[in-house]
Amino acid sequence: MSLPSEFDVAIIGAGAAGLGAARALENSGLSVIVLEARDRVGGRGHTITAAPGIAFDVGCGWLHSADKNSFVKIAGQLNFEIDKTRPPWREQSFDAGFPLKERLDFIAALDDFYERADEAAKSGRDSAASSYLEPGNRWNPMIDAISTYINGSELDSVSILDMDAYEDTGINWRVRRGYGALMAAYGAPCPLALNTQVTLIDHSGTRLRIETSQGTVSAGKAIVTVPTNLIADEAIRFSPALPAKVDAARGLPLGLADKVMLALDQPETLPKDGNLRGATMRTAMGSFHLRPFGQACIEGYFGGSFARGLEDAGDGALAAQAIDEIAALLGNDYRRKLKPLAQSRWAHDPFARGSYSHALPGHAGMRAVLAAPVDGRLFFAGEATSPNFFSTAHGARDSGERAAGEVLIAKSAQH
Ligand SMILES: Cc1cc2nc3c(=O)[nH]c(=O)nc-3n(C[C@H](O)[C@H](O)[C@H](O)COP(=O)(O)OP(=O)(O)OC[C@H]3O[C@@H](n4cnc5c(N)ncnc54)[C@H](O)[C@@H]3O)c2cc1C
Repeated sequence: MSLPSEFDVAIIGAGAAGLGAARALENSGLSVIVLEARDRVGGRGHTITAAPGIAFDVGCGWLHSADKNSFVKIAGQLNFEIDKTRPPWREQSFDAGFPLKERLDFIAALDDFYERADEAAKSGRDSAASSYLEPGNRWNPMIDAISTYINGSELDSVSILDMDAYEDTGINWRVRRGYGALMAAYGAPCPLALNTQVTLIDHSGTRLRIETSQGTVSAGKAIVTVPTNLIADEAIRFSPALPAKVDAARGLPLGLADKVMLALDQPETLPKDGNLRGATMRTAMGSFHLRPFGQACIEGYFGGSFARGLEDAGDGALAAQAIDEIAALLGNDYRRKLKPLAQSRWAHDPFARGSYSHALPGHAGMRAVLAAPVDGRLFFAGEATSPNFFSTAHGARDSGERAAGEVLIAKSAQH
């Protein structure tokens, strides 16, 4: 390999967390390398041009909690336009299949559910969020569908203490050119080794010996930012083993959310930034953003076990499901007007193995366990380590910066 093989700090993974760590160390005087298995930076942040003029964020798209989101300032510095149009998630364009009165009833049931779960979390005792569904409430399947979008998982495997710890300020913006494109620009100055998959971190000697698909790297310290499912599956191993980290990662699995992008013929027939829920009384359904930024397309979102089934069904299944649901609401004409452009398959992505982390009931405390440094040499970042902004891109970035700070503190303690 052409890499120099000795570094002060090796950062494993060039997603938001790895890039955040690398940028925070850039003037530290330390020699740093970011080891990334893919041939690109950004990880679960990835913008593609799905068709001329159609930017598609295959992973993260929304600057959640935008008033506290560190990528907002970065977007300003890098001249990326921010779109502050309110998300249409609670709307249903044309009232299609979901009249306003029903919608208000559903939203009241959803808000009541969150209130009950928040109240229960105050006790400090953990349990499954599904316990706070009102027995027999007709909206329960749909409240569960919302969980599949937010958590990537149904409520029975979501911890209420974790749900309660998440800081949602209710302000959600977007990056016009794409969140993944912003991340790539942010990461451009970082010292990178792409196509370099780390398989083992041997921390038995005085220096870390990091085995990669491109050879062995020696480093004084490492910041590990890979998704929890890879640590849980031991796709990246530690020697000596770190069972506490593997256990923590298993308590914080990645749920699944997948997106599909459909080109739309005669776009003017649909509202700009409109919304459709594919159905009402069930969990297995998509959610559709009509003409995002006014583009001639519809972006579909599927989550949880329904998304998993559609991924497993193979290429085209997600798009076919999306078109079926839209046609059922707007008319069979839409079968002719819609054309699949691209779709994600995050569960089948070997370097993600899912979309974003949620804590299993009883495991909310695992985020802090995963984040804790080992021996002042191994540091951990990534969205799953964020105490309040887990599952997000800015939470991941901030966690990288936090781990970089820990590296610097450990270094000064050694002198
Ligand atoms: C469909 C979808 C929609 C989303 N929507 C939003 C949203 O709207 N807003 C939001 O804020 N967040 C959203 N997210 C979540 C957000 O994308 C992630 O939380 C964030 O990007 C995670 O960053 P990370 O650095 O922790 O992990 P990653 O981005 O996964 O980065 C880890 C990196 O490690 C690399 N890697 C893995 N294994 C190895 C190895 N063995 N050796 C070397 N490198 C390795 C990976 O290739 C990857 O580049 C979404 C995610 C998905 C999938």
